[in-house]
Amino acid sequence: MKRELLDDLPRFEPGWVWLVGAGPGDPGLLTLHGVNALRQADVIVYDALVDQRILDHAPGTAEMVYAGKRGGRPSPTQRSISLRLIEFARQGKRVLRLKGGDPFVFGRGGEEALTLTGAGIPFRIVPGVTAGIGGLAYAGIPATHRDTNSSVTFITGHSMTGEVPDTLNWPALATGAPVIVLYMAVKHMGRIAERLIEGGRDPMDAVAFVSKAATDDMTVTECTLQEAGEVAKGVEPPAVIAIGPVVRLRSALDWMGHIKDGRVLNPDPLGQGREEAG
Ligand code: SAH
Repeated sequence: MKRELLDDLPRFEPGWVWLVGAGPGDPGLLTLHGVNALRQADVIVYDALVDQRILDHAPGTAEMVYAGKRGGRPSPTQRSISLRLIEFARQGKRVLRLKGGDPFVFGRGGEEALTLTGAGIPFRIVPGVTAGIGGLAYAGIPATHRDTNSSVTFITGHSMTGEVPDTLNWPALATGAPVIVLYMAVKHMGRIAERLIEGGRDPMDAVAFVSKAATDDMTVTECTLQEAGEVAKGVEPPAVIAIGPVVRLRSALDWMGHIKDGRVLNPDPLGQGREEAG
């Protein structure tokens, strides 16, 4: 009999921690390793950004532990989360640490894994679809496109102290990074836009806010860089923000909008007036 793909995935051994990225929302973006982990876990330590539809598929026997940092509930410190993972693993549990997006992209997965290493706890990392790529794709915005950018820059809009990150070379980014994707930046978008414009970025550059990407409540707001600070005030986090010419492709690639209300797509989003060959 033909084996199913899931049958060939690893067994979750007791005493192990699996750090798994759940993707930005849509459960269909969970990897097979993620599904495999969910099926076998004894305890699931999850963040605020993990979609409820994914948690609904946890086995009834699994202990659910919320380790989020929003929603009015008290925030556990990063250290206390790591210590709990160690404690559960030492109790011989199969510990699933479930995080939104990808665990190694602005997700503190590295910090948690380092603590596990220090404690001698074996672990596996399961990458996930990160909001800055997959979330944008749900808005019809490609992170790279041959005609517009051969690089993409991911930035957090929040430093460790909660301020605009000042260790960044904003003028260099303004002129050297054709497409910028910002995480955790809604609050500081006004100041970030100012720094980019001061650093030489075109104030008319295209910006898209993709809020609650890949969820049923996804909204996309487009504006120019000079308007972005004002527009950000009306955007509900979590949101990823794309800056650069790829945003204009959305008018042609908004497949979600097309599925939802049959929106007519613009065949020439970059105004090139020609068919792309190859
Ligand atoms: N590890 C995550 C990022 C965690 S940082 C990942 O790889 O996606 C938290 C930030 O991620 C949020 O402030 C927001 O900028 C972004 N984010 C996560 N999920 C999102 C979603 N569904 N829609 C829009 N942005 C999201």
